Amino acid sequence: MIDQRIEIIEGDITKLAVDAIVNAANEMLLGGGGVDGAIHRVAGPQLLEECLKIGGCPTGEARLTQGYHLPARYVIHTVGPIWAGGVDNEDVMLASAYRSSLALAVQNDIHSIAFPSISTGSYGFPMERAAPIALRTVRDFLATNSTLQRVIFVCFGEAAHTLYLRFYNALHIT
Ligand code: ADP
Repeated sequence: MIDQRIEIIEGDITKLAVDAIVNAANEMLLGGGGVDGAIHRVAGPQLLEECLKIGGCPTGEARLTQGYHLPARYVIHTVGPIWAGGVDNEDVMLASAYRSSLALAVQNDIHSIAFPSISTGSYGFPMERAAPIALRTVRDFLATNSTLQRVIFVCFGEAAHTLYLRFYNALHIT
């Protein structure tokens, strides 16, 4: 049975008033397009200043900043893998990005966290492969943790939402 603390919604992650939203960042933490650009636009320039002080984040790891003008208190910046056809450890690195984000949340007493679909935009990771990895990694983490109360998967657009719900429902029986 999948964990009741997991939610799948369609929407814009920058609008969520949760303890932390996760950013699909790049290794330089420089701010870019996609969800990263959207988060920086709403948070304001102080977010980039704090990111520059951190100085980067290797693929599969995560770093915490304040949320500034976002409704979320914190941003957890994680770096997913760039899709290279599936031959470069991408599945393992994607799972690591989710796990590192969750571990950082627990360390900082964060109870609610929202994830975008990491790596599935400009990094090219096929969503039908990424979604089950994301869902299983979160489910398995929650099985060992009781501080996190809500983990929200934020799907950008109806197609992504339908796809996530399909894999979410499949998790009930696997
Ligand atoms: P990456 O470089 O890790 O692929 P992107 O930002 O290009 O990151 O895309 C990651 C996912 O985030 C994509 O599935 C994209 O549709 C989605 N996305 C883009 N903007 C938003 C947003 N405002 N809220 C939630 N998800 C978003």
